[in-house]
Amino acid sequence: MLENYRSPWLDDDVAPFADSVRRFVTDNLAPREDTWREQHQADRVSWLAAGEMGMILPDVPVEYGGSGGTPAHLAAVLNELSYAGVVGLGLGISHIVGHYILDDGTEAQKQRWLPKIASGEVICSVAMTEPGTGSDLQAVRTRAIRQGDKYIINGAKTFITNGQTSDMVAVVAKTDAAAGAKGISIFLVDTALAGFRRGKCLDKIGMKSQDTSEMYFDDVEVPLECLLGGVEGKGFYTLMKQLPYERAQIAIAAAATMERALALTIEYTKERTVFGKPVLDFQNTRFTLADVKATVLASRTFCDHIIGQWVAGKLDPTLASMGKFWLTERQSEVLDQCLQFFGGYGYMNEYPIARMWADARVARIYGGSNEIQRELVGRSL
Ligand SMILES: Cc1cc2nc3c(=O)[nH]c(=O)nc-3n(C[C@H](O)[C@H](O)[C@H](O)COP(=O)(O)OP(=O)(O)OC[C@H]3O[C@@H](n4cnc5c(N)ncnc54)[C@H](O)[C@@H]3O)c2cc1C
Repeated sequence: MLENYRSPWLDDDVAPFADSVRRFVTDNLAPREDTWREQHQADRVSWLAAGEMGMILPDVPVEYGGSGGTPAHLAAVLNELSYAGVVGLGLGISHIVGHYILDDGTEAQKQRWLPKIASGEVICSVAMTEPGTGSDLQAVRTRAIRQGDKYIINGAKTFITNGQTSDMVAVVAKTDAAAGAKGISIFLVDTALAGFRRGKCLDKIGMKSQDTSEMYFDDVEVPLECLLGGVEGKGFYTLMKQLPYERAQIAIAAAATMERALALTIEYTKERTVFGKPVLDFQNTRFTLADVKATVLASRTFCDHIIGQWVAGKLDPTLASMGKFWLTERQSEVLDQCLQFFGGYGYMNEYPIARMWADARVARIYGGSNEIQRELVGRSL
């Protein structure tokens, strides 16, 4: 993390939690990342251990199995995971689904799902994107048609994080194809149901330890109680309400990743000698890393403003979108600049900087592409 700077949200309550999460992540999760990259998914025992640590739903009330903290506790978790280079555990997605349920679910849905999501027993996916549509969420083609006391879901999804491992999928589907945004609903679908099928785990340029996958729903019969909130047509509203938090998560990960990149690069350029002197001694290195350091500090303070607003219950969608596109673009720039100082080693997957560079690219695409974020910010002008 940055020297001589303390995030205002890292107060006396959050800091000890962050310290224990850091120790846990360093000792138990970071050493697993290589294995997760090989198998393209995290292991369940790590999910359960993270649940035990209170890392999955840190800001959900204790009565629902959460840790009763605030978004600052979630920020601490995301910060520590990103700073340690732990990418495989898609906790953020389970967190998002947890908040769909906490904010818009029925009491029975909260009781059924939240304790198990918090403990890591239930791993979640969010299935919005389809082969034919990503940015234009209103154009989803997956249909959920009511037949008596159940819905029948048909459709295909793609690029779904936790796709091979999830036990429950929050599926975005049309319950009324003629009603536009008001015809969209979310279903909490148990992946054990007949007709649900996982497609292949997709081969990506980065995020190798995540199981991003296709999913198919062929006449999946879901009971009525799986409709989020029990009312049709509220799905788009839930998505619009929750997407800013997903974007804030991406911004937090970007800030912490940049801090790590700077620290790794300073360390490497001090050690690596070329023409008889450390790479850090070349003026080009010092000037570039001076720029990087300023960018990293500006990113951190911007990110902390987002977290502060979130904790205060005032995170507005425009701020989240600005943070998402601005921080992820700084992240790409910083990683590219840092990687260069590693020379050929920077291109080798064995070096964290190489993985970070490849992993970072998707942050400008997912969670709503950066072009869409600019559209959203543009509407506020
Ligand atoms: C690793 C990974 C994990 C993901 N995880 C999930 C997940 O868990 N759940 C899920 O539902 N989805 C997930 N996604 C999907 C992701 O959210 C989408 O890829 C993203 O929203 C973009 O949609 P698309 O790929 O269909 O691109 P498109 O919508 O086809 O966009 C193509 C290009 O057009 C641009 N564009 C689109 N509309 C506009 C506009 N109005 N103005 C200007 N430019 C525009 C886009 O910015 C983009 O550059 C994941 C994707 C990846 C790669």
